[in-house]
Amino acid sequence: MELTEGGLSIEVETPRDGTSEGSGDGVFFNPTMELNRDITVAVLRAYQEREPRVSTYLDAMAASGIRGVRAANEGYEVTCCDIDTEAVDVAQANLEHNDLKATAVERNVNALLHESLFDVVDLDPFGTPIPFIDAAFSGARNLVCVTATDTAPLCGAHKQSGIRKYSTVPQNTDYHPEMGLRTLLSALVRTAARYDVAAQPICSHVSRHYARTYLELDHRATAADSLLEELGYIHHCEDCLARRIEGGHHPQSVPQTCPVCGSNRLLTAGPTWLGPVADSEFVSTVRRELSAEMGTVSRADRLLSTIESEIDTPTHYDQHRLCKQWGVPANAMDEFLDDLRNAGYEASRAHYSGTAFKTNATIDEIQAAAAPDAD
Ligand SMILES: [Zn+2]
Repeated sequence: MELTEGGLSIEVETPRDGTSEGSGDGVFFNPTMELNRDITVAVLRAYQEREPRVSTYLDAMAASGIRGVRAANEGYEVTCCDIDTEAVDVAQANLEHNDLKATAVERNVNALLHESLFDVVDLDPFGTPIPFIDAAFSGARNLVCVTATDTAPLCGAHKQSGIRKYSTVPQNTDYHPEMGLRTLLSALVRTAARYDVAAQPICSHVSRHYARTYLELDHRATAADSLLEELGYIHHCEDCLARRIEGGHHPQSVPQTCPVCGSNRLLTAGPTWLGPVADSEFVSTVRRELSAEMGTVSRADRLLSTIESEIDTPTHYDQHRLCKQWGVPANAMDEFLDDLRNAGYEASRAHYSGTAFKTNATIDEIQAAAAPDAD
């Protein structure tokens, strides 16, 4: 079937059930990733404003070639790589069909990345990106874009798998989408550091079934050292939902009891990424680069607008979960956040869900400042 995305026309075979995994026959195309790809195009535009020299782009798992087609349409010098002959043919046909010049190669992308350099490397695999990240950091100059769809290992719901894949301990908490993103970022930052590269996230989002992040590279060992300083630990109380953040390579003082409620049901996650997941100024440029031909322009704009104004804390709270915990009915989010701000705290919505918010207040400060009345 032929479909249109971002004003371009793409020939694809949809998977048998219409939406999910690419285990079926044929070259895979995932229509639910349109938001991801629209934001990618806006990031590619914004990044060229930031680094006008940037021109080469690798679509590392090309499949239908949709990402490569869209990047080529933005003027990038594109290479579409796939290990599957049929996918390379489809990607090539889709490029030609849109009168775009780009290279489609049948290669093991890890081999390609160890032999060639690209300004931008885009990893969009099924499941974990881990098998490709070493090669990506060795073969990318400026920007590495990463999708991960294995949200259960990342957020600690499949903890052992998360520990194996990401060499860190994720924990299953009420802020699981953010835990997942920070687990991914921890592994990416540590992997890049092995090559003396600092990989700083400049835009990230967690949407329904995946995390997506854009990392700007700085090829100086000292920059990599500084970035590693932003790793650390989250100590989380399963009873009152208090959390304590501890920076550094080693946890100095794993608490045995919760300092707020005295519970011994404490979880420690880490080493996790505690730094910013986005650069607000860059996100604002990305937002400006969204355009009308994008199918998800309104959703993307809402999402980026929330990310742009998210305050920078390593975890978020869920307002409904807290109100349930306190035995009070939830009030309107804006009212709740205003109460926090009026009490002198920073507070913002968070893009992870409609009831997610961030604040610099502690759990008991949140309750004192913003818990709605019981009746
Ligand atoms: Zn507690």
